Amino acid sequence: MNQSNYCFTCSICEFSTSPSSEIIICKKCKSPLDVKYASLDKSKTVVNSIDIPLPITSEDLISLGEGNTPTISLNNLSNNLDVRLSTKLEYFNPTGSFKDRGTSIMISCLKKAGIKEISEDSSGNAGASISAYASKAKIKSHIFAPSSAPNAKINQIKVYGAKTYLISGSRDNATKEAEIFSKTHGITYASHNLSPYFIEGTKIFAYEIFRDLYNSQDFPEHIVIPTGNGSLFLGAVKSFLELYSSNKINLIPKIHVVQTESIQPIYALFNTSHWSPSNQSKTIAGGIAVSSPPRVNQIVKALHENNGSCVIVSEKEIIEWQLHLANQEGLYIEPTSAAAFAGISKLMESKIIKKGASVLIPSTGFGLKDISPI
Ligand SMILES: [Zn+2]
Repeated sequence: MNQSNYCFTCSICEFSTSPSSEIIICKKCKSPLDVKYASLDKSKTVVNSIDIPLPITSEDLISLGEGNTPTISLNNLSNNLDVRLSTKLEYFNPTGSFKDRGTSIMISCLKKAGIKEISEDSSGNAGASISAYASKAKIKSHIFAPSSAPNAKINQIKVYGAKTYLISGSRDNATKEAEIFSKTHGITYASHNLSPYFIEGTKIFAYEIFRDLYNSQDFPEHIVIPTGNGSLFLGAVKSFLELYSSNKINLIPKIHVVQTESIQPIYALFNTSHWSPSNQSKTIAGGIAVSSPPRVNQIVKALHENNGSCVIVSEKEIIEWQLHLANQEGLYIEPTSAAAFAGISKLMESKIIKKGASVLIPSTGFGLKDISPI
């Protein structure tokens, strides 16, 4: 397909514009933009043997073999919790996190548009992913990461070849520095949080759930996602809505969001409770340590429209669940992923998830990339 098959539309207001790698926020209300297809049926690209509306053709796809991740049942935890719990092992992706799905599509689109140099900010996983795919695409990358990011992730960013800048202070400082750098040097700001293309890639996660589990008793009634900037959550919601509007499914899973007590902007907006970035404290869940997510309004709107919920978990609960996954199921996941598993208890306490329900949680990142729980 080509660019005439889709446009960028505002996630909040009615603004729309022709696609451009330089336009990533709405000119009217400054909200992030999304890809909107003229026709879902005529925009399909075959990825991992699935027809998916995407802004890129298979010929132009830059791939490191991402996706097609396995889903496994977590029988021991299922018995303890009295639910049917499974996980999709997103850390099987080439750089060890789900981010590769979004990066593959974003870098493919930027390469197709002739972009030769990009900047980006990341707590670690997205930076490593973009560094890897940019190298493959022969695009020069500049990655801004918080100096507090785990060494394994920072080294991974450097090994793939990105010029790496460590920024002191909060995660949001890295964003500000990347934006300033882009403006100053006239380089494309390839923000995985803002780019409309990134969510098109994370959609593939849910398309695979549809391909592998729909029409089986394991098709999830609930999906629980650790959420900072929301790219996996928004991608999953968009996929299921596309499948629903194409009459491929008649049932959409409820998709819930988990944040931390330390940093909870989505939770606060969803529950109309008070929280501001000045209230933030340190969290081991670095992948969701985002105090001002640019898509927060879009995420909360999607939660309300699709019967989702948002819960918060403590640092202690995150470590406990990271260890539960390891010593009960043999899975070593990073703390950000463990936050989602900690959230399931909260969702059951509040009867949002009932006993016996089928629940899928993505294992978004691999444990060895982060600090050890012991
Ligand atoms: Zn707008």
